Amino acid sequence: MQLVFATHNENKLKEIQSLVPKHIEILSLTDIHCHEPIPETKDTLEGNAKLKADYVTENYGLPCFADDTGLLVTSLNDAPGVFSARYAGPESNAQANMDKLLHNLKNKADRSARFKTVIALNLTGKTYFFDGTVAGEILTQKRGQDGFGYDPIFKPEGYDKTFAELPLKIKNKIGHRGKATIKLINYLNTHYATI
Ligand code: IMP
Repeated sequence: MQLVFATHNENKLKEIQSLVPKHIEILSLTDIHCHEPIPETKDTLEGNAKLKADYVTENYGLPCFADDTGLLVTSLNDAPGVFSARYAGPESNAQANMDKLLHNLKNKADRSARFKTVIALNLTGKTYFFDGTVAGEILTQKRGQDGFGYDPIFKPEGYDKTFAELPLKIKNKIGHRGKATIKLINYLNTHYATI
């Protein structure tokens, strides 16, 4: 069975391919020659994940899963949330996004936040959702060189280092994307082990 992962990221692809049953062949957007931008116009993570998976299923006729992630900050009513990638504006980068967040949290006592990933899977005419979250807090300054996005200012609960300071292996184990991915893989292993 062929299953599309709506990403161009070869690393993400390889990681998943090594974890699913052998008869499931994971294809990237590049593999199916999908090079056009896929719309992400919904205002929820679930909505955007489904929109991306639906785009592939409807236009390429293939089963597909897609993910969407956001950083939800409690004292900002869960902003930036679904707008995490472009919090500081449409052309913004990680530094500008973090600077805006640090500024907006300046006078807030509650700095708790969580990352959330939602995966939407289109298979056999139905959509299935899997999610993963990691709780933590937003520090007052950036720390660490690794990772991407908001990693330098996010310290997961129970650790004294940020995601940009922790080894990737630990981030993957305790992180939002890893937890959602494990649920997807368990589902495929349980329901599609032999088809
Ligand atoms: P995406 O849905 O995976 O593209 O994530 C949307 C945005 O959320 C990214 O552009 C980042 O700003 C942020 N983000 C997603 N995952 C992470 C992460 O693991 N660490 C830090 N920021 C992240």
